[in-house]
Amino acid sequence: MNNHVTVLEIDGKALEHNLQYFKNKLANNTKVLAVVKAFGYGSEATEVAKFLENKVDYFAVAYTDEGIALREAGVETPILVFHPQIQNLELIIQHQLEPNLYNHTILDAFLKIADDKLLLNYPIHLKFNTGLNRLGFWHTDIPSILSKLQSSDHTKVASLFSHLAASDDIQEKEFTINQINNFAYIAKQFFTHLDYKPMVHVLNTSGIINYPEAQFDMVRLGIGLYGFGNDENETKQLKNVASLKSIISQIHLIEPGETVGYNRAFTANKSMKTATIPIGHADGISRRLGNKNYAVLINNQKAAILGNVCMDMIMVDVSNIDCKEGEEVIIFNSQEMITEMANNSETISYEVLTMISQRVKRLLKC
Ligand SMILES: *Cc1c(COP(=O)(O)O)cnc(C)c1O
Repeated sequence: MNNHVTVLEIDGKALEHNLQYFKNKLANNTKVLAVVKAFGYGSEATEVAKFLENKVDYFAVAYTDEGIALREAGVETPILVFHPQIQNLELIIQHQLEPNLYNHTILDAFLKIADDKLLLNYPIHLKFNTGLNRLGFWHTDIPSILSKLQSSDHTKVASLFSHLAASDDIQEKEFTINQINNFAYIAKQFFTHLDYKPMVHVLNTSGIINYPEAQFDMVRLGIGLYGFGNDENETKQLKNVASLKSIISQIHLIEPGETVGYNRAFTANKSMKTATIPIGHADGISRRLGNKNYAVLINNQKAAILGNVCMDMIMVDVSNIDCKEGEEVIIFNSQEMITEMANNSETISYEVLTMISQRVKRLLKC
């Protein structure tokens, strides 16, 4: 039994289906890295990682503490930390996490620790900036990187990678192909100067869909795993992973002229029935969805949000819905609903999913 009435259910079978869908697009020997940053895109990182553990080759998180949480939950698969932060490098080693080293400051700091600790072939990952201008070495850094690496065997380059700026946007095809070609040229220089061959990877979800020819040795699958492709058709092939559910706490009958919620933002012009649901903006329901900008489902019928979204509650219109207190409310349970929530709050599916706050209980169903 749990005492949270609002839960985010995570569908393990859907995760598996989505993983397989992308694997089918890849060559047999292409490795898959599952991105489980930001609590597994708002789902549940440790449970999801444990569930996927024998089905993928690598995991990635954004920050060191996210990687530590996976290790502490017993995850043994290699974990790449995209943005480790220089003050955490000791922790990275302590927890057998693999850092992305993206400039000379963090590379030097890591090489120094690796030398001091007499590590042997500790796996590191080098990221190159090919146009996103976020994190990464520039191609002109290659000679100095190589000279630093060749002087010690305390580390070993597990992979070289880059990140595409607009892999979802076919209008940016020329820019993207240029990023891929520049990255391939960078990788080639490492191949000629190192006496081993690091893995190479550049594709995220929409990259896998649009540029499968650039899959190299591994791909980094994020949002696709959680049910979203880069267009409606692609998303239809995937299964929805996250369903947000709650219950009706209270039903009110109100008269014409009465108002609902803070600032009296909604005024009834007829006799109405409203339902109060225990989920609000502190749970990740954007205030932009208030005032009928979103409808939840009760008994399979749409119930629009009346007035403003409160911190812990919303009130919805159930005038025409046969329902009672304690009954189930679906906030979303399909990609269509999540997409509508994203559109109506002027954001994207990534943000809707990751915004569901940690106050909401997660439940993985396999
Ligand atoms: C988040 C992230 C990904 C995953 O991207 P999706 O679009 O969710 O597949 C891949 N690589 C890097 C570097 C990232 O930060």
